[in-house]
Amino acid sequence: MTDNKKKPEWVPENASNGFTTEIVKGIDQNNASGSARKFVKKKGRTTEEYAQGIRNGNRTILAQAITLVESNAKRHEEQAQAVINEILPYTGNSIRIGITGVPGAGKSTFIESFGSYLCEQGHRVAVLAVDPSSSVTGGSILGDKTRMETLARNKNAFIRPSPSGGTLGGVNRKTRETILLCEAAGFDVILVETIGVGQSEVVVRSMVDFFLLLVLTGAGDELQGMKKGVMELADAILINKADGDNRQRAKIARAEYNRILHYLQPATKGWSSKAYTASALYHEGMEEMWKIILRFVETTKESGAFTERRNAQTKDWIHAMIKDYLETSFFSHPSIKTKLPTLENKVVQGELNVTTAVKELINLFEA
Ligand code: GDP
Repeated sequence: MTDNKKKPEWVPENASNGFTTEIVKGIDQNNASGSARKFVKKKGRTTEEYAQGIRNGNRTILAQAITLVESNAKRHEEQAQAVINEILPYTGNSIRIGITGVPGAGKSTFIESFGSYLCEQGHRVAVLAVDPSSSVTGGSILGDKTRMETLARNKNAFIRPSPSGGTLGGVNRKTRETILLCEAAGFDVILVETIGVGQSEVVVRSMVDFFLLLVLTGAGDELQGMKKGVMELADAILINKADGDNRQRAKIARAEYNRILHYLQPATKGWSSKAYTASALYHEGMEEMWKIILRFVETTKESGAFTERRNAQTKDWIHAMIKDYLETSFFSHPSIKTKLPTLENKVVQGELNVTTAVKELINLFEA
């Protein structure tokens, strides 16, 4: 991939007005058997139609295929997997970039600015989000159309709110499969944003090539509050809001972060993570960031670390899905549902030890 990529020949079917169709809402899993099912059913597309539509870059069909993938309904699962199988040969040709940072660090402003810059360069950018907390709130911040307004209108961009509801494992699978669908539709840069707190950083790290941590100045305070673990995941730290009076402070913070990064394990083999400054609001530092990412891709492809990571991620995905599947089957098993509360009580009362209780439950499950 080069920096000055020519405009792709591909033109989205319905992009004649220069706008993305719309920011398509994810499925509300609380209502997965209702509106979402109707939505998919009404279209009644064949697997071939989905696959062809995606390959032709038809945004409406891409959005519908994502809805299919996000559906928790059993009968959609089969077709969703068939569609993925069809498009699989056309996936993998993108740079997958994860973006994290505390709320207010400027993630959405950065994505808007960086995404628009990339579109100007002729790239096609898909923006996705991982939001494990959305199962609690039942909503998604990305669904708020006031975010990333400019990017949302760009015909070379596609913004998809995070799937809401379901388990972390479910959100994980849906986002990974959505990445594949977007790649098959010709998006060559995928930006995956973490929303909410908790495990989303680790989940996003496990599905991207490059992981960017956005931070603010005032490194002293922030560094104390920041988990070392998150810094260890980052391929670059970007000190945002380096504008106005903040410029000088941002430089000091950069030196401080670089000093710490020097002592941390590298996030990616053969790559030393560094800190940089930018102003997402004033569109400064976007080109520099992109050059760093391109250098990262070049370096890691040359060393083999790029492919190694992708392969490891695929294996992790298999393991994660097995765990998720087993957990769901276990806790929804009728005998377990009946027996679990009784055994829990016995353990709490000191009448039974944990290992024996667990063994009894596993035996029941396997019977
Ligand atoms: P998020 O919660 O991480 O997505 O953060 P937002 O992108 O919503 O930004 C939070 C606030 O910081 C908003 O009021 C932005 O306008 C502001 N902001 C974001 N980037 C910059 C920047 O580069 N400079 C300045 N001065 N403000 C910024």
